[in-house]
Amino acid sequence: MIGLISATEAGGRARARLADAWPARTRVYEGPVREAFERAFRECEQVVCFLATGAVVRLAAPLLAGKGVDPGVVCVDEGGRFAVALLGGHAGGANALAREAGEVLGAEPVITTATDAVSVPGLDTLGFPVEGDVAGVTRAVLDGEAVALEAELSWPLPALPSNVTPPETEAVPSRERATVRVSDRTHTPSLREVTLRPPSLVVGVGASKGAPVDEVLELVRDSLQGAGLSALCVGQLATVDAKRDEPGIVEAAARLGVPLVTYGAAELAGVDVPNPSGAPLAAVGTPSVAEAAALHGGGELVVPKRKSERADGRPAMATCAVVRRPARGRLAVVGLGPGARDLLTPRARDELRRASVIVGLDQYVDQIRDLLRPGTRVVESGLGAEEERARTAVAEAREGRAVALIGSGDAGVYAMASPALAEAGDDIDVVGVPGVTAALAAGALLGAPLGHDHVSISLSDLHTPWEVIERRVRAAAEADLVVTFYNPRSRGRDWQLPKSLALLAEHRAASTPVGVVRNASRPDESVRLTTLAALDPDSVDMMTVVTVGNTATRAIAGRMVTPRGYRWQGV
Ligand code: SAH
Repeated sequence: MIGLISATEAGGRARARLADAWPARTRVYEGPVREAFERAFRECEQVVCFLATGAVVRLAAPLLAGKGVDPGVVCVDEGGRFAVALLGGHAGGANALAREAGEVLGAEPVITTATDAVSVPGLDTLGFPVEGDVAGVTRAVLDGEAVALEAELSWPLPALPSNVTPPETEAVPSRERATVRVSDRTHTPSLREVTLRPPSLVVGVGASKGAPVDEVLELVRDSLQGAGLSALCVGQLATVDAKRDEPGIVEAAARLGVPLVTYGAAELAGVDVPNPSGAPLAAVGTPSVAEAAALHGGGELVVPKRKSERADGRPAMATCAVVRRPARGRLAVVGLGPGARDLLTPRARDELRRASVIVGLDQYVDQIRDLLRPGTRVVESGLGAEEERARTAVAEAREGRAVALIGSGDAGVYAMASPALAEAGDDIDVVGVPGVTAALAAGALLGAPLGHDHVSISLSDLHTPWEVIERRVRAAAEADLVVTFYNPRSRGRDWQLPKSLALLAEHRAASTPVGVVRNASRPDESVRLTTLAALDPDSVDMMTVVTVGNTATRAIAGRMVTPRGYRWQGV
């Protein structure tokens, strides 16, 4: 919840605007300012104060308890000109909140956290939980000091600045050096050291019916602690299908904040384990649950099967085993949208900054180069090298890197996602980020052409024989679907569009509206509304999509509108 506080009338008006914009996320704290602030500070994850920064500093000072627990605090001045992230920039989310609130209020966000300001990665934004002296090590990174990267585990990190490197033998003694560790082992952090915690551990659990969650959790915690492993590195809990709904296990996963994965008994029976036993075989049909489930995806058994201990001497109800799984590379397939920066989603932006390698067509890389973290490796290639690009991206991820494969619009629409995923095995993690595809960008410019059922058809015969394309165009014509043509025409390929329009014209009036949108959301954008009969195919090129209406589509006030078919609209 975001607490809102104001003192003056002008502040109150700005406060009301934010409360109206975010009714479900905000709570207004009325009354004397000090009391209101204290309550909001205690009760909310974030607070926006329509007060001077000085006033808020004084109000907050006696309440501060630590970076990890204090809410994020944003101050907006009376005039609503600035939204200042005052406290908890990263951990409290105040930087993001200042940006968001700034957008609603038309205020300039003021972000002073060094890492955000100069676009060096904040150590707490590298994609993994982090422990230790985040502020101290970040300062060392920013100051350009030589920082040691001690990676015991090779989980993929974003690009790091060039002063963060594996330690060299002749370097400064490591006690004095700022250090970034990547490890799942617990250890007493020294000054100027942070540890990143990748999800390297899989905990296999078994439980008899009705096993209490506390017994399961205590066993898991004891097992990790006994082996010197960090609970922050548990990536998943694993068990047998039959225990999918066992409350003690389900709740343990929830409390650890990790997914529960389950496998069939027959599958688990096929996994080689050091400590099989008769009890689970009789109960669920596999000689091992905990060890087999933990080992299912491969890896090294670091804690063999253990049973819970019960103070009352009754039989143990839970078993557990821990496996360190091999590091997994990460392939993000990221749609960049049609061109305009503000049609690139925030999630796409985050993924570009989560990567250490970017793979894509040179013209798309140019679209986002300024967003990349310094040190990001860019693998560009020209048009036509699709297969190679897909293979490169997957190979880089297999090497254990964080890769972003980029494409314009949506990267899954006539683009790189399918060739890449056809190559990818289940040995890498894949994350898809949707983008605004050309049909939608064009639709928004034309009006509402896609208000009823519609298809996209690519007229490129590079990957598809013309007979197949023609069959689909005919089917769309007969089914009265609105059609958006991608790749409508290129230099060597000019008869397919007129032919397709003729096929549609067999089932639609010559006056059917047709939208022609070139370079949607790019600097030389053009939008034309014409008809099936009047469309000049010469006005169409490869930067264009052509959207043909169905029999109900109308041009209304210069806009293309396909009715949803409601009877009251007379259609
Ligand atoms: N993945 C892309 C499509 C790639 S196919 C997407 O989701 O949008 C390439 C075709 O997309 C082009 O020939 C053109 O028909 C269309 N296209 C892509 N971007 C466009 C834009 N900004 N304006 C108009 N058409 C576009």
